Amino acid sequence: VVDAFLDEVRGRLGPQGVVTDPDVLRTHSVDWTGRWAGRTPAVLRPAGTAEVAEVVRSARRHAVALVPQGGRTGLVGGSVPLRGEVLVDLRRLDRLDPVDAAAGQVTVGAGVTLQRLQDHVAAAGWAFGVDIGARGTATLGGMVATNAGGNHVVRYGSMRHQVLGLEAVLGTGEVLAANLAGLVKDNTGFDLAGLLCGSEGTLGIVTAARLALVAPVAEAATALVGYRTIGDAVAAAATLRRAPDLHALELVLGPGLDLVAAHQQAPVPLAPTPPAALLVEVASSRAGSDLAAQLAAAVAGGPEPAGAAVATTAPDRARLWGWREAHPEVAAGLGIVHKADVTLPAAATARFLDEVPALVERCAPGATTLLYGHLGDGNLHVNVVGPDPDDDGPIDAVLDLVLALDGSVSAEHGIGTAKVAWLERQRGAVAVSAMAAVRRALDPDGVLNPAVLTPRT
Ligand SMILES: Cc1cc2nc3c(=O)[nH]c(=O)nc-3n(C[C@H](O)[C@H](O)[C@H](O)COP(=O)(O)OP(=O)(O)OC[C@H]3O[C@@H](n4cnc5c(N)ncnc54)[C@H](O)[C@@H]3O)c2cc1C
Repeated sequence: VVDAFLDEVRGRLGPQGVVTDPDVLRTHSVDWTGRWAGRTPAVLRPAGTAEVAEVVRSARRHAVALVPQGGRTGLVGGSVPLRGEVLVDLRRLDRLDPVDAAAGQVTVGAGVTLQRLQDHVAAAGWAFGVDIGARGTATLGGMVATNAGGNHVVRYGSMRHQVLGLEAVLGTGEVLAANLAGLVKDNTGFDLAGLLCGSEGTLGIVTAARLALVAPVAEAATALVGYRTIGDAVAAAATLRRAPDLHALELVLGPGLDLVAAHQQAPVPLAPTPPAALLVEVASSRAGSDLAAQLAAAVAGGPEPAGAAVATTAPDRARLWGWREAHPEVAAGLGIVHKADVTLPAAATARFLDEVPALVERCAPGATTLLYGHLGDGNLHVNVVGPDPDDDGPIDAVLDLVLALDGSVSAEHGIGTAKVAWLERQRGAVAVSAMAAVRRALDPDGVLNPAVLTPRT
């Protein structure tokens, strides 16, 4: 069946559109974490929307399942062929239109990396509101599909808030063009572009997006502020959320800072290493706002800090950001990482941070637990290294605690294949069956990402 499908696709896309070289297949079958790996008979490389539509229609005819793939930086096992699916690599869809300066918008192909988009819009005097550590590899298609969040959600919201319009090939093989003109107001029925944000490749393959841009930062001040207790850092975050021009509010803990220091062979900029620290950034599109003073005043309104390192130039700010952004890479360097990416209600955050290390230690004695995250959004990342790759015990215990505290088992990474068992407990049976019904309507034969979100049998 697959051979007939691949022959048909080769006939439409040409030989360069169907790759079966075993080395390429192996590379594309494992994700950034190394935890999720599968097997695939082929990687398809369509060059445009029409070719993506040909692939999906052909897959329906031959009953072949597909996994759309961008940069493979997704962290929940959604982008690799765990059931032997054929991969659709979208990176040749790399259209990058000129910035529409009148609207403050741009249209991009799904395969464009975030870094390329950022550079492109910066050259035209604009900025993009979402930034994530995987910017050099993650694609806009993957970021739409996972509704990526990242460092500046406190200021601009997640991908969903930047997406004005979308082009996608639905599971039916039809091409959906939803508000590609980028109208800011369009109340003509369902928000279909919004529906595809966070759909994790289960409803359609995103081929292009119309994105809103924001004013570039003219001046910024960033500080790494230490606190004597985790409770103090969480209390400080509550105060800092109200700071004018807040641009980022991130949490790191002492053990994570020490690991990053060993990795970077550089001393932690706060000595001695504090139990907890906030990376706080304020930024303005107006120059001359004396943001460092503004930041100091905002910090002074909370619990007394245990030291602070402040940066106002771009290279110094990037160095401070490194203390936060190196965390996923440092964890990955320790071994296979078991990840939870959760949101807690503000009132439960300190308790969660206090309880998790002991909880993990009970499930997996000797494991290393790293806690960090986008505290401004109540979003914490739990990284556990030590347990066997298939041992879900520690993360299951963490997610049980999250549900008991009325949080969410996935803040920004999505459900993928990794968190499927948790979806109904999180959202309830009615919501899950509504999602499955939408999925059946837009992908009647179940060709798109069958193992993801609400698995198809
Ligand atoms: C170092 C690092 C830091 C990160 N930081 C953040 C962060 O701060 N915030 C955050 O939210 N996430 C973060 N992530 C995870 C995040 O989900 C991804 O980086 C990004 O959104 C995925 O883009 P990708 O192109 O790599 O997609 P992939 O990993 O290739 O795919 C992800 C999912 O989207 C689907 N998909 C991919 N392309 C398409 C398409 N064109 N149409 C439909 N479906 C598609 C796939 O099938 C899969 O289910 C981080 C990851 C890493 C490795």
